[in-house]
Amino acid sequence: MSVSQKEDINSPGVIRALDRVKGMVKTCIQCGTCSASCPNVHFMDLTPRQMWRLVLTDRSADLFTSQSFTMCSACYWCTLRCPRGLALTAAVAELKQIGARLNLQTSKKSDLFYRLFLDNVRQYGRVREMELMGRYFLGLKNPVTPIAYTPLGLALMKRGKIHPQMPGQGPGKLDGLFEAVRERRDG
Ligand code: SF4
Ligand code: SF4
Repeated sequence: MSVSQKEDINSPGVIRALDRVKGMVKTCIQCGTCSASCPNVHFMDLTPRQMWRLVLTDRSADLFTSQSFTMCSACYWCTLRCPRGLALTAAVAELKQIGARLNLQTSKKSDLFYRLFLDNVRQYGRVREMELMGRYFLGLKNPVTPIAYTPLGLALMKRGKIHPQMPGQGPGKLDGLFEAVRERRDG
């Protein structure tokens, strides 16, 4: 099923995905190290430790009235520091996928960004920044956003962090890889 099609919290695919998350955090001892390590915790209404508590006590629905999991920047600090060695960044990534399946308002911006990012990588073999951001701003349908990001874009370009053009790898080269990931996710 495409992530743009809406599912609900009781659909079999979502239940399976939540079970996967539960399995990933089942040995959590609620020590709070993940929350204390997270650089984005100040933007979250639920801390990482609280998220795992909800998952473990079968109150996952409450997670999706929060936008905490969408604030994760995948920095891996929680994963590196968890004393139980839990794959927490992967667990948050799974929550993001579920948020996209549920078509949540809070997930739409990050879902749009990730989908365009992956389309871009699939098409060119790496990120083509100018095209990615152009398509992202178009998708947001908010004319103010590109204006707000213009100074940052110019500063990055000046430092050589954004390249207007780069040779493309050609379509299809990464299709096998993407297909394998899709099969693994849906399997
Ligand atoms: S650091 Fe690990 S064990 Fe501690 S609360 Fe977070 S997930 Fe649980
Ligand atoms: S991976 Fe996400 S949840 Fe974990 S510390 Fe980084 S931002 Fe926080």
